[in-house]
Amino acid sequence: MNILLLGGGGREHALAWKLAQSPLLQTLYAAPGNPGIAQHATLVDLDVADHRAVVDFCLRQSIGLVVIGPEAPLVDGLADNLRVKGYPVFGPGKKAAQLEGSKGFTKDLCKRAGIPTAGYERVHSKGGAVAALDDFGLPVVIKADGLAAGKGVIIAETREEAIEALDFMFSGAFGGAGAEVVLEEFMTGEEASFFALTDGSAILPFGSAQDHKRVGDGDTGPNTGGMGAYSPARVLTPELEAEVMEKIIRPTVDTLAAEGTPYSGVLYAGLMLTSEGPKLIEYNARFGDPECQVLMMRFDGDLAALLLAVAQGKLADQGPVQLADRAALTIVMAANGYPGTPEKGGEIRGIDAAQASGAHVFHAGTAESNGLLVANGGRVLNVTATGDTVSQAQAAAYRAVDAIDFPSGFCRRDIGWREVARETR
Ligand code: AMP
Repeated sequence: MNILLLGGGGREHALAWKLAQSPLLQTLYAAPGNPGIAQHATLVDLDVADHRAVVDFCLRQSIGLVVIGPEAPLVDGLADNLRVKGYPVFGPGKKAAQLEGSKGFTKDLCKRAGIPTAGYERVHSKGGAVAALDDFGLPVVIKADGLAAGKGVIIAETREEAIEALDFMFSGAFGGAGAEVVLEEFMTGEEASFFALTDGSAILPFGSAQDHKRVGDGDTGPNTGGMGAYSPARVLTPELEAEVMEKIIRPTVDTLAAEGTPYSGVLYAGLMLTSEGPKLIEYNARFGDPECQVLMMRFDGDLAALLLAVAQGKLADQGPVQLADRAALTIVMAANGYPGTPEKGGEIRGIDAAQASGAHVFHAGTAESNGLLVANGGRVLNVTATGDTVSQAQAAAYRAVDAIDFPSGFCRRDIGWREVARETR
């Protein structure tokens, strides 16, 4: 089978690495890919926003499965346009991808399906939003409705901050994504991510993870796309996972199917583990980045076969997802300046040395320039290792980081701290 993988980040490098191990695979194509993905795939120059070009490519290369990594093409309806032509696609169609594309859509779905989540109101103007503030305590959570690359959430501690945040959101800072705003009750607890594959009917859990969103050690500084992650998140005990499946994932899948917009792909649930039980913070319609990297390090099965089963609606025929009992941890090496303006072009050396000990260095924002590997984005490398415990995986991953020579980059030195503290208690 020929597979087309769309995307060019660390998530897609991890997917490419696993897909390349499948006995089903004949040729793996990737667009746009990156130098790491190029080790496993033929890179093709394809604009994913041009759906007709993607369909034409699939026809020309006899593609048997399209794997869509990032959210934007999903929300844009690429999966529908491929399915209409008969191509199996891993990833939801436009309507079901609203789970990520519209926070208001997801909150309304939670209400219809009785899924535990924070109380909320959808508001469409600043005036309406300010009036609605009276219905919420402080802090209050203010979210742009649409895709905002992880930057559309503000937690306001005071009413003044809330009004400032609303000014910002309704000023067009997020374009169409901010035309609607969702106000939410603030929840407290520990956060964890849970992943499940579904073909719209059958559901298979795909493990848990925790990530670090802030740029600085001790979870300080501005938010980023994620500075590191580890899996499993042991705080999500088997009992809690069962509760999440029963009260959150299953009703989501069943409600979307009953309403004629079945969800096919991976459901990535951001959870708050509150004193009242797990509650949904948000859904993403694709694997997390960098959570995917740690999940793939633990995944022992045939990824192509599994994703094809999802795409073909045959997930019920698959056994449980084979996730090794070991822990995996990934450290993001970012270019100086991130999450502001990252410095481009900085040389990177030592990846082979870093991998000599069994760690995996997934490429995110890298490029080749005059035979050198250089930084070409904010998050540049994902240095990933496994161990019997998160502490061991952390030690192995930092040993690998220390073998990398990337003078114009940086990383956090405390990825996994919460779990390491739990393990050493
Ligand atoms: P989201 O993009 O919806 O996942 O929100 C980003 C981050 O904002 C989450 O990971 C939480 O840390 C925080 N957050 C979002 N919604 C809430 C909420 N209702 N209560 C507390 N924190 C929240």
